[in-house]
Amino acid sequence: MEAVLSIGSNMADRQALLDGVIEHFAEAEQLRAASRTYATPPWGVTDQEDFLNATLLVEVPDEPLELLRRCQALENAAHRVRERRWGPRTLDVDIIQIRRDGHELLSEDPTLTLPHPWAHARAFVLIPWAEIEPEAQLRGQPIAELIAALPDDDVQAVTPP
Ligand code: AMP
Repeated sequence: MEAVLSIGSNMADRQALLDGVIEHFAEAEQLRAASRTYATPPWGVTDQEDFLNATLLVEVPDEPLELLRRCQALENAAHRVRERRWGPRTLDVDIIQIRRDGHELLSEDPTLTLPHPWAHARAFVLIPWAEIEPEAQLRGQPIAELIAALPDDDVQAVTPP
């Protein structure tokens, strides 16, 4: 199955954390595409670093819940490092969409909701995704249309490298 993942971090070594996720899938020969890294200012709180976000397309033999566990293991590994060395913050690895034979899986299970419930409204997910899959659709709607419908401020906040 194919999966679109959104990865994000706003801790000290943000790019290294994102690279670790990319390497995990690349080493398994499961990485199909990775966007560039985009920076987004944190919401509200301004004394934090910008978030870095990227979107990956992976092709994995796993069942959806196995992929979720892999994503959570990557998050947990980053969190363990972070607690020891830099204090709080984060690596998020979210599953945005899963496709089998080109068909999007839908799930309302709170453990794994598909597509990700906020993906359609998040510029920092959609803009990097459109870089690697410009024709992609979410619930049958072209992601280019979803981006066009976002508030201008949200779109402009997502800055390419
Ligand atoms: P968060 O800390 O906001 O990333 O949320 C993590 C929780 O969301 C976990 O308990 C997951 O089981 C759940 N979850 C539901 N749908 C998804 C999804 N599409 N991708 C990642 N986590 C999900």
